[in-house]
Amino acid sequence: MKEWALDLHIHSLLSPCADNEMTPALVLGRARELGYEVLAITDHNSVENAAAFVDKGKELGIKVFPGMELQTREDVHLVCLFEQLEQARQLQELVYQKLPPLKNKKEIFGEQWIVDKAGQKTGEIERLLLVGTDFSIEEAVETVHKLAGICIAAHIDRQAFSLWGHLGTLPSGLPLDGVELTPHLPRNPEQLQEVKNHGFAYLVCSDAHYPDSLKTPQCFARLEEVSLAELKLALKNQAGRTIRTLR
Ligand SMILES: [Zn+2]
Ligand SMILES: [Zn+2]
Repeated sequence: MKEWALDLHIHSLLSPCADNEMTPALVLGRARELGYEVLAITDHNSVENAAAFVDKGKELGIKVFPGMELQTREDVHLVCLFEQLEQARQLQELVYQKLPPLKNKKEIFGEQWIVDKAGQKTGEIERLLLVGTDFSIEEAVETVHKLAGICIAAHIDRQAFSLWGHLGTLPSGLPLDGVELTPHLPRNPEQLQEVKNHGFAYLVCSDAHYPDSLKTPQCFARLEEVSLAELKLALKNQAGRTIRTLR
């Protein structure tokens, strides 16, 4: 087995709140300089830049999982990851059906650019992405699992847009695949204990929206090979697969 440096929660210039410099070349180029081997691209409620990042990753020797940061009806953020682009696109279709039909107000929320692997803009999403879908937390997890993806509760140590912020706990009946903590926030011992009680090895991801948020690796996965199935084991400390974080 080998340990891989990873960051599984990164936004591209498709996310309205992300910097327009977050192109495949910049994100993946910087990640390679910093020593990352595995990334996921997780824009708000959309996977439309995933293909560009997956392709650019192949060119640069970085494995990129296509993903999405789905916002539920309760305004909880879930990082959803897939092995195949096609599975991610299927989630996309369902999410677009469940997004309220609102138009993005660029001047307030920011621009939503689709790009190709070279970073050329190929389209702009007109509908508002930064909003809750009509998926409940349970429905979202179930839907992602039906598409063979994994579902990670995002930044549970933040009050806003987090499962813990919403419920004050990790519900035992919810079949989550993992949990994520924020690099810069103080660790809450009670929360860490509950994460452990649920059998999770937490991830620490950048949730980068700006180039400067991409910093040296904080999180490493011990895996037989880089695959979603292996990651799923590591997120629960199973079969010798583990996640190690710097804090
Ligand atoms: Zn979030
Ligand atoms: Zn995010």
